[in-house]
Amino acid sequence: MTAATLTNLTTHLDRIRQVYSQPFPNLMFEAQSVHRLHHNPLEMQLATLGNIKTGACPEDCGYCAQSVHNQADLKPEPLMQIEPVLEEARAAKEAGATRFCMGAAWREVKDGSQFDRVLEMVTAVAALDMEVCCTLGMLKPHQAAQLKQAGLTAYNHNLDTSPAYYDKIISTRTYQDRLDTIAAVSAAGISVCCGGIVGMGETETDRLEFLEALLKLDPPPESIPINCLIPIAGTPLENALPVDPIELVRLIATTRILFPTSMVRLTAGRTLMSDELQTLCFLAGANSIFTGSVLLTAPNPSRDHDRELLAKLDIHPKTL
Ligand code: SAM
Ligand code: SF4
Repeated sequence: MTAATLTNLTTHLDRIRQVYSQPFPNLMFEAQSVHRLHHNPLEMQLATLGNIKTGACPEDCGYCAQSVHNQADLKPEPLMQIEPVLEEARAAKEAGATRFCMGAAWREVKDGSQFDRVLEMVTAVAALDMEVCCTLGMLKPHQAAQLKQAGLTAYNHNLDTSPAYYDKIISTRTYQDRLDTIAAVSAAGISVCCGGIVGMGETETDRLEFLEALLKLDPPPESIPINCLIPIAGTPLENALPVDPIELVRLIATTRILFPTSMVRLTAGRTLMSDELQTLCFLAGANSIFTGSVLLTAPNPSRDHDRELLAKLDIHPKTL
């Protein structure tokens, strides 16, 4: 089912559903074919995500350990100093990462000395010849321009789920707030990293409408993180049921077909996935992972485990 033959269908959503629900072997064949047209199937982008400011976030994201509205067992930490962040970035580069992402548990960026320190971090990480990404919450256009000036490669701001389901998960901001920040990031000439999270009780239609929302972004996201919920004690989603593994692979494959040139990042939840499931996701077109044993505040496979799995698959780290 090529994208071209889908145009005779009525809406984006019809087309997405047709791709997603075609027979699994056909979906995987198409995803692999699209993937090989645009990417080296033997390459995996390794990124590392460091938490530069932990916890005490005023937003109420139902999945998040860092929200003050949730009762997760997490010790808040203030914004880190520059040198320890650089040490993490150097260690990530040593271990083969080409992208270093800095996350801060903020609702939004506020002008002042803390943002100035983050700008210095961006410039210093870029000077390590690494791609540098930030995920700091909502941004204003002038702040996006400052991040671009500082040398930022990409900004992460996830839409996470469908517009219809969003307020079931988050009430302290709107979908439009997210879209406004993404627009500011694009306008500043920074590439957009925007993805989602499955396993929050959303329906299949929510998942497809999430992809539809991504399709409406212009330009499309340069990288698309697909997270599987890690149920965290003390959050409203602590008892959420795991995602069906085949549904996850279908989502990855559909994302690959809809966004042929984007980096599709298999992100949170990999410690809950078998090596076989991860391998299926790679064959479906996922060509980026976060390495390092902690993903913000959540567990992630060890670098050694990732190295061993990729070596078994004859997949090597992508270089810049
Ligand atoms: N504070 C920034 C924000 O919210 O945009 C960035 C923090 S972090 C990169 C945000 C993303 O991590 C969420 O959009 C979600 O996709 C993912 N995430 C957070 N908690 C998670 C969990 N418990 N399980 C899976 N993914 C999670
Ligand atoms: Fe705050 Fe981001 Fe966590 Fe939401 S996902 S509570 S905005 S740190």
